[in-house]
Amino acid sequence: MINVHLIRSNEFNKDRYWEILNLLRKYPGVMQFKTQEDALYMQDDEIIHRSVDDDTFNRQYSLLHEFAKSNIEIDEVSWDNIFKNCSKYRRKYDIGIDEYVVLLTDYSNDRNWFAAADPKHNKNFFVHTNFWNYYINSDLRYPVAYLIATGILKQLLFKSYTDMSEHWHDVPIGCMMDFCRNKKEISLKLRTADICPSCLNLIKSRNVDHKLVQQVFTIMDGIREEMMHRERFVINRKPPRLEFKGLHKKIIFPELGDLEIALTPLEKTVYIFFYKHPEGVALNAIYEYEQEIRAIYESVCNTYDNDLVDQRVRDLISPLTNSISEKISRIKRKFIDKLGEDMARDFIIDGSNAELRFIPVTRLNQ
Ligand SMILES: [Zn+2]
Repeated sequence: MINVHLIRSNEFNKDRYWEILNLLRKYPGVMQFKTQEDALYMQDDEIIHRSVDDDTFNRQYSLLHEFAKSNIEIDEVSWDNIFKNCSKYRRKYDIGIDEYVVLLTDYSNDRNWFAAADPKHNKNFFVHTNFWNYYINSDLRYPVAYLIATGILKQLLFKSYTDMSEHWHDVPIGCMMDFCRNKKEISLKLRTADICPSCLNLIKSRNVDHKLVQQVFTIMDGIREEMMHRERFVINRKPPRLEFKGLHKKIIFPELGDLEIALTPLEKTVYIFFYKHPEGVALNAIYEYEQEIRAIYESVCNTYDNDLVDQRVRDLISPLTNSISEKISRIKRKFIDKLGEDMARDFIIDGSNAELRFIPVTRLNQ
């Protein structure tokens, strides 16, 4: 078993962190992805603030600058400090020297790399999580998960940076070992999900555990598949399948890597209710469905306190409060946040003011 502790530095969004961890855990194998609940903190004096006036910044981030078409400010931490903090974290949480620590961080680094291993061979590794929207037309989970999986493989494959640099492909060919000096080039290797014949031979000759190689291949393939699914949506407009999973009816998109829309029990109640009513229900008629709504809430909430359930449901459907409208707009925000405006459109609760409210996707198969 190879233990990989996935951690985040404090500024990196916790929900995104869990999404990446869950994506990787979908492909079990010899690499086991573990979590440490606590975030890592960079010290204030380790963070260097850069703006577009800076020459180095302009050179390193010219592409980014071109895309953003406005002033960009970045916070940067040196490789030395990133890895020093990983080692400190290791000691604090008693992580063994044979185990990997993979840090996800929004901070840029002094060499402007996507991801890198500790040159001191401490089995520390980081992946930069910011600015992906400028490089690649996809969800940041995919490139980040790809870099984690292939990063571990590279650490087992190469003895040093010198060794690795002798095997890089300077001109991208869609192999895991493409160097991607121009950051946009990374989308090619994500799309091919491939390792070229000469790199495969190298892996064989260096006796890397074939089970690990297999797992990395499965992750690469899975990521490719999910990315393609999203891209195809632009053309075929076929909404991904939504499932209500398990006891608490988690809202999951299996084709998007089990992407979850995390709703509170009351939000989930509202969503499931409208999902069951493709014909639509106007908000001013919602109180007529009290019993049905109560039954849904009871099935997704975690309480046996009947009075509390009654109270919550009554507050939810009361015409005197704005509660249900608020839930609907919060649900909408959560779907857009995860799926993007375009794909979310079929899943949000549609209709305005006194009109019938409904979820478009529930009408598609009728
Ligand atoms: Zn190659």
